[in-house]
Amino acid sequence: MPERRAAAILTVGTELTTGLRVDTNTARIAAECVAAGFRVSEAVTVADDAGVIAASIARLVRANDLVVVTGGLGPTHDDLTREAASLALDLPLRPDPDIVERLQAVADRHKEGAAREQVLRQALVLEGARVLQPTTGTAPGQVVRTGACTLVLLPGPPSEMLPMLHEVLGERRETADPVVLKCARITESDAQMRAQSALAAHPGVDLTVLASPALVDVVLLDAGAGRDGLVDAAHAVALALGEACYSMDGASLAEAVVRLARATFRTVATAESCTGGMVAAAITDVPGASDVFAGGVVAYSNALKTALLGIPEATLAAHGAVSRETAEAMARGAQALGADAAVATTGIAGPGGGTPEKPVGLVWVAVAVGETTEAYELRLHGDRDGVRRRATVHALDLLRLRLERS
Ligand code: ATP
Ligand code: MG
Repeated sequence: MPERRAAAILTVGTELTTGLRVDTNTARIAAECVAAGFRVSEAVTVADDAGVIAASIARLVRANDLVVVTGGLGPTHDDLTREAASLALDLPLRPDPDIVERLQAVADRHKEGAAREQVLRQALVLEGARVLQPTTGTAPGQVVRTGACTLVLLPGPPSEMLPMLHEVLGERRETADPVVLKCARITESDAQMRAQSALAAHPGVDLTVLASPALVDVVLLDAGAGRDGLVDAAHAVALALGEACYSMDGASLAEAVVRLARATFRTVATAESCTGGMVAAAITDVPGASDVFAGGVVAYSNALKTALLGIPEATLAAHGAVSRETAEAMARGAQALGADAAVATTGIAGPGGGTPEKPVGLVWVAVAVGETTEAYELRLHGDRDGVRRRATVHALDLLRLRLERS
């Protein structure tokens, strides 16, 4: 397998290094570079400081085949990337006559002589550089060869940056799109180990694992395997992940639930206490959920659990609101309102309300499908938000598994 060419990304802006703006350019550029067949060796963010920008460019062009820089190409005093590149590569800057002509009208809008001058700074081009014309905005981009490296300077605003990036990299894709195997209720390390062992028989695939509360994305990247090789590898990894894997085509967990309900001709209802409607919200986020989602009840107090879901007062008195019995009765109550299947949540999200027997993080989820109701005791960690989000994922996933099996 040929060694992939190395690319580096340098984003410039004090707004980025002070946290005033989030750097979204790096992610976009990285994805495009990977798609174009590069290996991204590093991504660096620096302040609007000519010395630091110049030192970074000088270092990165020595170590990479491609260096993409964004930001600092505008007209203002803090836009220093052109000058820094000139310094780093020891290449003079010269005004490009075509850009001067185009910018003249923009310059003439300013009353201050110095402001007019500033606008024309954007016409300065590194000797030997190819100019990338802006489709929006005024700042042109530049592409220059230096030794074995191609240096690309692009404006900071994403809407100006992206068309130029596409022009440089070409729309042609040398690698297949990544495949994401979405998993629930598996640890990051377990997912990684299982994926790695499955990939031993599939060379040319890079693995990365991304986790969020109770969810893990196993991402397979084309590193020479090609589209077919990547798909084969994805099937092998899916098998290794087993029932933890709920989608391979980008579908969310709620989407997987909606699809399964549709495929098995079942309607679904929810009865929620500690998740306060988050399960219903996730399901109704899915376009077309109305085909299968009957509705949901948020029953927080015991009185409403009895009034809306028909939970016997005796059940609540004997076992408490957070119990297997109440969760099961909630699921059956929601089902009785008019659905083939129902999921219920009741738990202690914290920070208060925990006891030694029923600590914060204890959540009962019950799923009723047809005649059978199953309850699951969960011990979830995290703060209130974390417990509620994890409980929502577990509830959706347990519903998914029951729909899949029955
Ligand atoms: P302009 O002509 O707009 O000044 P520029 O090339 O000088 O373009 P900057 O001044 O560095 O770009 O940034 C302009 C704006 O672009 C920033 O305020 C920010 O909103 C956006 N921007 C810059 N860099 C990034 C980045 N890495 N990620 C996301 N947005 C960015
Ligand atoms: Mg600027």
